Amino acid sequence: MRGRLLIPFCFYTPLAIALGSAAALAGRQGWSEALLFAAAGLMSWSALEYALHRFVFHHESRSQAVRELVWSAHLSHHDAPKALDRLVASLELSIPIATAYWLLAWAATGSWSAACWLFVGLTMGYFCYEWLHFQAHHGRPRSRLLRYLRRYHLLHHYGSEGRRYGVTSPLLDLACGTFERAGRERTPERELPQSR
Ligand SMILES: [Zn+2]
Ligand SMILES: [Zn+2]
Repeated sequence: MRGRLLIPFCFYTPLAIALGSAAALAGRQGWSEALLFAAAGLMSWSALEYALHRFVFHHESRSQAVRELVWSAHLSHHDAPKALDRLVASLELSIPIATAYWLLAWAATGSWSAACWLFVGLTMGYFCYEWLHFQAHHGRPRSRLLRYLRRYHLLHHYGSEGRRYGVTSPLLDLACGTFERAGRERTPERELPQSR
């Protein structure tokens, strides 16, 4: 079961290496420009994570087909937050999003190789997300930052689904009015590691 958690890493690592190598061989960007694009791609992950989570994965549609799509994409994870088979995004979900991102990045920059560097950064952001999300539900983080992010995400699951959409950072929640301080809310007992 845990093997399926690695599927996104096994798929996107060689893809990002291939795209980065193709862009490097094409030589259209110098290393500093390539690094800037990759950094922009990494930061764009936060925006994509927030926008998808807030506006797509919690969208309440009248259409049964859309509701089923949203359920399999995200709400099934809310139904069983610790279920390993619902924890990481499926390739069926992420590949169309990744393809649309790369095409939009190409259209926006006018350069396929710049789009590749952006994609490399985005992939790093996505891997951070999957790792932090796993830590939130199954980890025993020791650092304050990881414990904070863990609690922040668990409170999104239990009691505040209309808020706290950020997983890798609460910054966009702060900027977009969906932040909520943790206050005295307790991390739900059923999510604590010893309950596994
Ligand atoms: Zn959610
Ligand atoms: Zn979760």
